Amino acid sequence: MKKMWVAMLAAAAFAVPSVAGAQAYPERAVTIVVPFSAGGPTDTVTRLVAEAMAKDLGQQVLVENVGGAGGTLGAARVAEAEADGYTLLLHHIGMATSATLYRKLPYDPLNAFDYVGLVTEVPMTIVARKDFEPQDFKAFIEHVKANKDQVTVANAGIGAASHLCGMLFMSAIETPLTTVPYQGTGPAMTDLLGGQVDIMCDQTTNTTKQIQGGTVKAYAVTTPERLDVLPDLPTVTEAGLPALEVSVWHGLYAPKGTPPEVVERLSKSLQTALQDENVVARFGELGTTPSPQEDATPQALKAKLETEINRWRPIIEAAGVYAD
Ligand code: ASP
Repeated sequence: MKKMWVAMLAAAAFAVPSVAGAQAYPERAVTIVVPFSAGGPTDTVTRLVAEAMAKDLGQQVLVENVGGAGGTLGAARVAEAEADGYTLLLHHIGMATSATLYRKLPYDPLNAFDYVGLVTEVPMTIVARKDFEPQDFKAFIEHVKANKDQVTVANAGIGAASHLCGMLFMSAIETPLTTVPYQGTGPAMTDLLGGQVDIMCDQTTNTTKQIQGGTVKAYAVTTPERLDVLPDLPTVTEAGLPALEVSVWHGLYAPKGTPPEVVERLSKSLQTALQDENVVARFGELGTTPSPQEDATPQALKAKLETEINRWRPIIEAAGVYAD
């Protein structure tokens, strides 16, 4: 009997390290790459989620900004990272649109990542520098068309949500405009506030406070319904441009090949973070809501990415906008 116990204990001790190895994740800080500059909307969303995930994971969750090429540089960085759960990517709708916008990408959006879950869907707003003359969206469109050689549009590069929205706008009003690319709409907002650039379409997570504070002029929101935080702002559909309806969904990804139990742990942690009081409150102030628990899953993010690649491909092809 005693012999049997010793054998069982020895077997148990032998089994412990691998079980504990999986359960111990994370044993050190986790980094989430944001493929745009600090201070912009994707960065804002990520920092709020990272803080709440850190509480749940019991480790620091750091945010690293890798801006450039409309989000594709940061995505490429994570596609090549060690698949150990310590380097993640928080990207938005650009993961789907860049699949068509770029003739060559250094990664395959559908096969280079494991999916953790959806994070949020953020409305966009069409804004201009504070002293831009037109007083409403109709006058804005007329003014832009009449001054097409002077008006400049800020965006975060080809593949960014601001690029997509600007492209939809130009195609809806059949007027090409001069675009000014930044590494993210954080710095683009700085230039809009300084009057160095005229207009921009950007997530409410970057524009709400500026609109409320009157530091930028707002013309429309890209959702079917008006927003509680910006009730005076008409929708693009009210203003007669339903083709501009777009919502910027965000997802959390890990490099392909991350151990399934680690992906599952991250997904659970994301779900917990999205119910965190601070996250819910701050998202609400910024005109958005966290994704519900059933969407903060690998299956939901994968399905969303596939649907959205197919949804935007014909629209981008019709617009004929590509990057090499
Ligand atoms: N809002 C930006 C975009 O146009 C990205 C960012 O700076 O977060 O996609």
